[in-house]
Amino acid sequence: MITDVCGRCGGSGRYSYNMIDGSTCYGCNGSGKAPAKAIKAAKKMKVVCHTVKVGSGFNVGDGGNASYVGVNDHGIEVYSVKNSRLHCSFRLPINIIEKYFSITK
Ligand SMILES: [Zn+2]
Repeated sequence: MITDVCGRCGGSGRYSYNMIDGSTCYGCNGSGKAPAKAIKAAKKMKVVCHTVKVGSGFNVGDGGNASYVGVNDHGIEVYSVKNSRLHCSFRLPINIIEKYFSITK
């Protein structure tokens, strides 16, 4: 797998301390490395829902800005997707976004 230095911790693998996980960086799980794809995607994009995913809060045509928030426990990129109709944001993994949304930018 192609990796790059984690953008969250700068490669140290350490980030702000919390009671649950200590100071392990959530961006890279302490490895200091991140998938190059995640670095490249660490910016905003616009998405529009083309297929309803029940329970996601999105109907066809809904969408808005999506911004990268990090990777989940499975190493999948997670985005905060703003629903401009409901005026609230939902956290969705990229595999769900690619399946149910068109990425317009
Ligand atoms: Zn990191």
